[in-house]
Amino acid sequence: MRGHMNALTIRNLQKTYRNGKTALKGIDLNVAAGDFYALLGPNGAGKTTAIGIVSSLVNKSGGEVEIFGHNIDDDLESAKSCLGLVPQEINLNLWDTVGNIVRNQAGYYGIGGKLARQRVEKYLRELRLWDRRDDVARSLSGGMKRRLMIARALVNEPRLLILDEPTAGVDIEIRRSMWDYLREINAAGTTIILTTHYLEEAESLCRNIGIIDDGRIIEDAKMSTVLRKLQKEVLVLTLSSEISAAPRLEGFETKLLNEGELEVEKGPGHDINDLFLQLNKHGLRVVSMRNKANRLEELFLRLVDSKQAAGERE
Ligand code: ADP
Repeated sequence: MRGHMNALTIRNLQKTYRNGKTALKGIDLNVAAGDFYALLGPNGAGKTTAIGIVSSLVNKSGGEVEIFGHNIDDDLESAKSCLGLVPQEINLNLWDTVGNIVRNQAGYYGIGGKLARQRVEKYLRELRLWDRRDDVARSLSGGMKRRLMIARALVNEPRLLILDEPTAGVDIEIRRSMWDYLREINAAGTTIILTTHYLEEAESLCRNIGIIDDGRIIEDAKMSTVLRKLQKEVLVLTLSSEISAAPRLEGFETKLLNEGELEVEKGPGHDINDLFLQLNKHGLRVVSMRNKANRLEELFLRLVDSKQAAGERE
């Protein structure tokens, strides 16, 4: 039973903000229990809105959300008790101590006494903040503040942990140690959903991936499937002479677009020199060549752009 259960089910989720902006245009999403799922998309795609609704920080305009089978409209408390959230914005009380922040969150979930003390110590140790427990949050570095938010989200041992861009602005070394930690708790049974615009982060951590663009899910698949799609390269060649049928080439799929234009799909193991040699054998010469980007590639190009922009800021 457990293996079939969804950690998160989203049906036809819609959100229009008061200013008239429609951030979600009816999205469907299923994340299985135990999964490590990446929600990717460029800035403004709707990721934070979706997470805000799931964690009941934002009111939805339509649709349904279930967390481990608990509908947030009918049974919000049960739904919430399954969920830990690490938001994108640092929302710590910076004047409170590290220990207090995590202890207060335990209290919020009705966890007190010895159990609270054990949990606080456990998660502060695991996130390497135990020796900072008496310091005010304000004195922590950016990476430490983010780790503190993770410890706080874990203190009620949620079955589903959602992290909204957990490593944005975090330097590479800390990023990698956060990845290791997230892998560990996922292996121990916690379902994890993270949003990111680092493809590398999703690739390194996640088994499944949803891609959201302009309020719509445009891809929901295994990570490996999406990566394979991205490796495919489609070229459009303009030929020096007209032909009536596409030549058959070894290792390349060809399609005639019109008498002078040939579309060629190149697999990962083949190179362009080989393509030209084969075309020469058919007596065909190439005048010019361009890449035919599909929608997914275009999206990833935009993701790479925003990643570079983020990198420049660091
Ligand atoms: P992402 O997290 O993918 O960057 P968001 O969910 O933050 O995307 O934003 C989706 C769209 O909704 C954007 O166009 C954004 O400007 C808009 N938006 C987000 N929050 C609000 C708000 N409180 N009021 C009005 N528009 C909003």
